[in-house]
Amino acid sequence: MGGQNSLKVLVVEDHSFQMEHITNCLSQIGVEQVLTATDGVKGLDCVAREQNSSTPIDLIICDLQMPNMDGIAFIRHLSINHYTGSLIILTAMDASLVSSVTQMIKEYKIKFIGSLHKPIDTKVLIEFIAEASEYTDTPLSPLLPEGVIESDLIDALLNNGLQSYFQPRFKFSDKSFAGIEALARLVLPSGRIVAPDCFLYLYDKLNKSAEFELQIYSQAFQLIKIWMQMGHPTQISINVGPSILADAHFYDDLLALVKRHGVPADLVTVEVTERTLIDNTAMAIEYLSRLRLNGFNLAIDDFGTGYSSFKQLELLPFNELKIDKSFMFGIEQDKQKQAIVKSTVELAKRLNLNTVAEGVETTEAWDMAKAYGCDLCQGYLTGAAKSKDSIRPQ
Ligand SMILES: [Mg+2]
Repeated sequence: MGGQNSLKVLVVEDHSFQMEHITNCLSQIGVEQVLTATDGVKGLDCVAREQNSSTPIDLIICDLQMPNMDGIAFIRHLSINHYTGSLIILTAMDASLVSSVTQMIKEYKIKFIGSLHKPIDTKVLIEFIAEASEYTDTPLSPLLPEGVIESDLIDALLNNGLQSYFQPRFKFSDKSFAGIEALARLVLPSGRIVAPDCFLYLYDKLNKSAEFELQIYSQAFQLIKIWMQMGHPTQISINVGPSILADAHFYDDLLALVKRHGVPADLVTVEVTERTLIDNTAMAIEYLSRLRLNGFNLAIDDFGTGYSSFKQLELLPFNELKIDKSFMFGIEQDKQKQAIVKSTVELAKRLNLNTVAEGVETTEAWDMAKAYGCDLCQGYLTGAAKSKDSIRPQ
């Protein structure tokens, strides 16, 4: 799978299994120029060699714990050597160490994409690589579903195949229903349902980002309108991506849409990710603050996958924090994940934020998040996303 991509990547990792996993991911998404090093010293040699070539390294994926020279020393040397590419770090260390390393990388003015906690979530890794690829203007080949070609997706997108699905959320305290999140799905003429990872890139490619996102919002508000008429006013969460947040009409369009459907703003939660905010800080502060003033709720989505900084939380009037599912997957056995989720919930509470645990798939994970004081649960355990005809108000 995958076409050509001119991104040049160096993976610095001493574990052969981990190395193989990462290089497999890279080849799957069409990255062909992959260099590897098993420790920091060899990594630096490689960086120096490539710096003198016509195509220096665009991205380094680096483990923090390695023999000879560890990742922290390696990063310092990268800065001394004026490395200009991006950086992703891999670690099994706890959150406090990761946040000090993150701070250090920023001080060194290295383009930091994010940190990945082991075991590595392939989806997040691919998102990170895609982001690094954007810096170099070498878009990655998309991950198309088996047996589907891009024109199938485009046809479906342009012919009403875009549908809002809805995932329910429940209170940990009493298991009561607490709203739904609208999630984009692409339904092909065959009836096959395609997840957003496979088609979101087409929004920008077709230059219809705002139009497509508004279609999803419109379907969501339409459902809430019907439920309100049935006597079930329900919280609805919508996702606002980077392109639409940067759209000059976004704010007015969203306001007009809720008005048209008669949905009160306080039933609507606007979710933005840390990454979306980084790309649009000034615009984001303006739009999101105005939405909050108008009564909308604001959630920070996928929390912990980006710059893991609470600074953004202080900057913007959020009232909800969604803990990324990668911290919930496997939390049952993973002391580090437990510590991350526990401390995130504690900090969120101090900032008066409602917390949502995403990716809750087992009763053990439910029990843990509940014990940490998390407010809402969203995940397969309590219900996958369903079409508008299959979901009922509760
Ligand atoms: Mg979301």
